Amino acid sequence: MTIYRIPSILSALLFDMDNTLYTNGEYTRFQLESPVRRLAEIRNTTFDEMQREIAGYRAEYRKTRAAEHPGAQGDAHVSLGNVFLALGVPIEETVRWREELYEPALYLKKDPKLRNTLTALAGSFSLAVVTNNPVLVARKTLAALGVEDLFGVLVGLDTCGVSKPHAAPFLKAAELLGVSPETCVSIGDRYGIDIALPLELGMGGILVDGVEDVYGLGEVLAEKSEIKN
Ligand SMILES: [Mg+2]
Repeated sequence: MTIYRIPSILSALLFDMDNTLYTNGEYTRFQLESPVRRLAEIRNTTFDEMQREIAGYRAEYRKTRAAEHPGAQGDAHVSLGNVFLALGVPIEETVRWREELYEPALYLKKDPKLRNTLTALAGSFSLAVVTNNPVLVARKTLAALGVEDLFGVLVGLDTCGVSKPHAAPFLKAAELLGVSPETCVSIGDRYGIDIALPLELGMGGILVDGVEDVYGLGEVLAEKSEIKN
């Protein structure tokens, strides 16, 4: 876990979902590969060729970012949704594919430790999910983990029609929770997607390695922040 900033007055926790609220290599791989397989089918090409094209785009993106932001560390991530957008697949199409392809219950099961952690946090903070997956997939994921009732707000790819890192989903979550962005902390597993932009928006940011780090959040936040009820 890397704590970049925790606001002195903290009212809400904005959680990334995938690889943050659960860690499951097989499901992560499926989520990354299945839309690429579909795109390859549509383009009448092979999965490997499609992967090469995507890797090429990502490499180019990283080079451009590095040139534009010399000295910036680890923020050259680009979401799969934005890669697809660059390859001509509109965000609405990505949303539809994911809704059709992803069945989190096939991979995830109830996580009582996560539930205990989030229940305790919900006593002090408002909780939201801000994900690049569609809201429907987010609902199914949280249900599979057994924590769907603990989040007041779900912001997905189809809420604002843009993929993180973009200000809109983070600001939308704060707005829907009725809190100011400066009193939110964004928690996620990818610096360039989940942390860098929230920090620019004046939010806090905590980078996690997976759900194991989330289990320890209660202790970290109790130590570092003045809880505002
Ligand atoms: Mg993630």
